[in-house]
Amino acid sequence: MTTEEARGVGAGASTVFVGFGSNLGDSRAIVQNALERLASTPQISSLQSSSFYVTAPVGFSTNQPAYLNGVVRFRTNLPPHDLLDRLQQIELELGRERKTFWGARTIDLDLLLYDAAVINDSRLIVPHPRMHWRLFVLDPMLELAPDVVIPTLRLTIRETRELLLWNQRFHSQFVRALNVCNAATVT
Ligand code: ATP
Ligand code: CA
Ligand code: CA
Repeated sequence: MTTEEARGVGAGASTVFVGFGSNLGDSRAIVQNALERLASTPQISSLQSSSFYVTAPVGFSTNQPAYLNGVVRFRTNLPPHDLLDRLQQIELELGRERKTFWGARTIDLDLLLYDAAVINDSRLIVPHPRMHWRLFVLDPMLELAPDVVIPTLRLTIRETRELLLWNQRFHSQFVRALNVCNAATVT
């Protein structure tokens, strides 16, 4: 019996990527704890983690502590919605409260990719719909799987990250040019 079979992960298992983030409490210990819970889940095996990244908060609530982010890859026989159940169970076990949208949290576990599956229902969207504009997802994914394709974009992680960086550079130059124009108009 292989190690995968011993863990209930048999033929037909899928390769999955899950993003994690924490910015409340002892984030490093909380993330370690969450990853141990994931790794010891029946029907999950071969879990590998990227490095941990410290990231400034983005979105509506930027007035909150920095995040510890990263991505794990593992193999599983759990169907996508059962896996989401397990991720949300771990979030609750580690004290996650859903208060503010995009607000501070002890732990956030997002299902990023599930093989090449494309899912879009009221509970679950895969690939994660915002993964392609988040460097805190693409940087750790680049470490683990640069050539994996995001099926909805038909681009690899490496290509998607390049596009995002290009877009950010273009945007900041555009804003700089606008500021120069505005200053010239005012004076
Ligand atoms: P974001 O999704 O922008 O990263 P968030 O992680 O803060 O924001 P949550 O409050 O954790 O959002 O999740 C809101 C809902 O998103 C969950 O209740 C879940 O049903 C749904 N959801 C849809 N697709 C996914 C996915 N791929 N991974 C995790 N949750 C998802
Ligand atoms: Ca998230
Ligand atoms: Ca989430």
